[in-house]
Amino acid sequence: MRAAYMFGAGDVRVIEVPDPTLEHSTDAIVRVVRACVCGSDLHPFHTMPETPGGRSMGHEFVGVVEDVGAEVRTVRPGQFVIAPFVWSCGECDFCRVGLQTSCRIGGVWNTKGSHGGQAEAVRVPLADGTLYPVDVDANDERIPALLTLSDVYCTGFHAAITAGVKPGSAVTVIGDGAVGLFAVRSARALGAERVILMGRHEARTELGRCFGATDVVAARGEEGITQVRELTDGDGTEFVLEAVGHLPAFEQAMGIVRPGGTVSRVGVPQYAVGPIGREQFNANVTITGGVAPARHYIERLLPQVLDGSVDAGAVFDAEVSLDDIADGYRQMDERRSLKVLVRP
Ligand SMILES: [Zn+2]
Ligand SMILES: [Zn+2]
Repeated sequence: MRAAYMFGAGDVRVIEVPDPTLEHSTDAIVRVVRACVCGSDLHPFHTMPETPGGRSMGHEFVGVVEDVGAEVRTVRPGQFVIAPFVWSCGECDFCRVGLQTSCRIGGVWNTKGSHGGQAEAVRVPLADGTLYPVDVDANDERIPALLTLSDVYCTGFHAAITAGVKPGSAVTVIGDGAVGLFAVRSARALGAERVILMGRHEARTELGRCFGATDVVAARGEEGITQVRELTDGDGTEFVLEAVGHLPAFEQAMGIVRPGGTVSRVGVPQYAVGPIGREQFNANVTITGGVAPARHYIERLLPQVLDGSVDAGAVFDAEVSLDDIADGYRQMDERRSLKVLVRP
């Protein structure tokens, strides 16, 4: 079969690899119907050292089950499934409390012998705990919307939930990527009255308004902090959802949060040291967030995706065939596309 591999920064190629096979009795084989490129795929796209053998890519995909191991109980061949970006057992203590990202025997795609979703098919470890079956067929027009539940919609929701966004509150969302836009939508769904979206890409901030943003601030850094404070009587907002992952975005979040408020980070941090000293201590700021247990949120978010009350598929503004996926990476890297759908 064909699969996308990265061989170094800027070097994504589609190569021929062996078809996946069942290796454990808890595995399933899924034929990929749609995959996509994630903002976090762009980090290795910028920094990966030259790697002669390459590395399989992709962690967001939906597809149809082709085969299952002897112990698999909850999915069967022919079913359409959503694969969240972490595979997990569904039975350990962490999985049972909805923290599948800390599963004792789970993992992320492309590690521990697993491969990625930017391919024609994938071996899914721990199929019962990982895959979420949905009663649609592979041609359903809601497929792109369903694909957002493998990561970006759930990650945006995780930002709002971990922050503890309350009815009537004011929230700032930093980042106009797909996760930021879903954080906007989620904050509104949890009752936020005011949602200030910080982003400078107009087509995206317009979609952010469709998702419920009440204000847009294009400025960043000190100027951005000043503008948000001016919008909020000088105090900033009680909740700040940071959906970028770079240090300036976190600094911006800490500059905007109101005393006693909460900053939730869901952008994968590209830094190890940040502003968490005396100033933030004195302001009683809570810092929370983290990697989103997408599997945990699918059940809750699925009904609005299926009935169309959230136009989740709107974050995909480009589509490429698997063979053209390198172009999809470049479109996202150059910010010509918000999120690129991949058709195997
Ligand atoms: Zn992702
Ligand atoms: Zn587990």
